[in-house]
Amino acid sequence: MTGVLLVVAAHAFDGPTVAASADADRIYHDLAVLTGEALPPGQPDPILSRSAFHPDHDRAASWLAEEALAGTGLELWAEPVHRAGLDLTNLGITLPGADPDLDPWVLAAHWDSTATASPDWDPETGPAPGADDNASGVAATLEAARLLATWTPGFRRTIQLILFDGEELGLYGSEAWVDSLRASGGAVAGALVLDPVGYNPGDDYVLWVSHDTAGADAAAAFADAGATLGGGLSVVAMDAALWGGDTRSDHAPFQQAGWIGLHAGSFPQPRTYHTSEDTLSVVDLNYVTRVAGLSAAWIGSMSEPLPAAGEAGVPQPDPRCGCQGGSGASLLFLALVAGVPRRRRRRG
Ligand SMILES: [Zn+2]
Repeated sequence: MTGVLLVVAAHAFDGPTVAASADADRIYHDLAVLTGEALPPGQPDPILSRSAFHPDHDRAASWLAEEALAGTGLELWAEPVHRAGLDLTNLGITLPGADPDLDPWVLAAHWDSTATASPDWDPETGPAPGADDNASGVAATLEAARLLATWTPGFRRTIQLILFDGEELGLYGSEAWVDSLRASGGAVAGALVLDPVGYNPGDDYVLWVSHDTAGADAAAAFADAGATLGGGLSVVAMDAALWGGDTRSDHAPFQQAGWIGLHAGSFPQPRTYHTSEDTLSVVDLNYVTRVAGLSAAWIGSMSEPLPAAGEAGVPQPDPRCGCQGGSGASLLFLALVAGVPRRRRRRG
């Protein structure tokens, strides 16, 4: 029975299943470590700040690179970025596509933080938990990587999941990454930047996506995906030209290169924006989880998922089944379709 279920579950990349498979517990763990609410495993001190001027900045990079995705089979690359006399680090996960001639899709978030709006904040010593801005985007991107990796047939396009450094200092990490790609003659199919994606005070689950002219169609497609892929978010596309442009996050270097750069966020900003009060209590875990699921489902769909091999009834057990969230929803769905008896409440 199990083999049959796996054949059906692995038949085709299923966006709604991916969107529904985002795991709030994994996301919470990442958020808690990044914001100092939980200790990095084996370390005596919490991460108090991810500002490039704070000593905990490099500890956060090490945790992300070495431990955040441990046990998933995914490896993060780390690329040094030197700007303005600072040593910064971009981190990322590459899911190589079957056709290296196709431009990749990018899902990205900045991992650095700041608290410049707090009076007397000292970047070298002061706390900057940056929970909403932008541990939320980092946690969503890490979860999207886990979800996309469960599609073992892979994708025709390469997918780059990137955590940029130095955004708060002037988009240093994303500018460096785009510059490097352009210098090598490369390009991207598009980039979706999550920044920030944690604030949902009205429980309305709206995700705003700002775009320029080049990204209008992609933004509309992402908004449609919010409706068709499920996941419980209303995605609203906005032409940034209507309010004078949007160059304030890591999507901007992509747009300046002439590529699609979408900026998704939970606007407006909370009053804790860029303060040391941007703690985990600002973040709606359910909202972040929905953003992670939808982002993974949409980026996966845009990256041309490959069909499962031997899908016509030959058992193709997924070697990762049981260790990832992706199979659970399919199995539940199929169990329901197959009419597995459900316990009924006794009457009287
Ligand atoms: Zn930000």
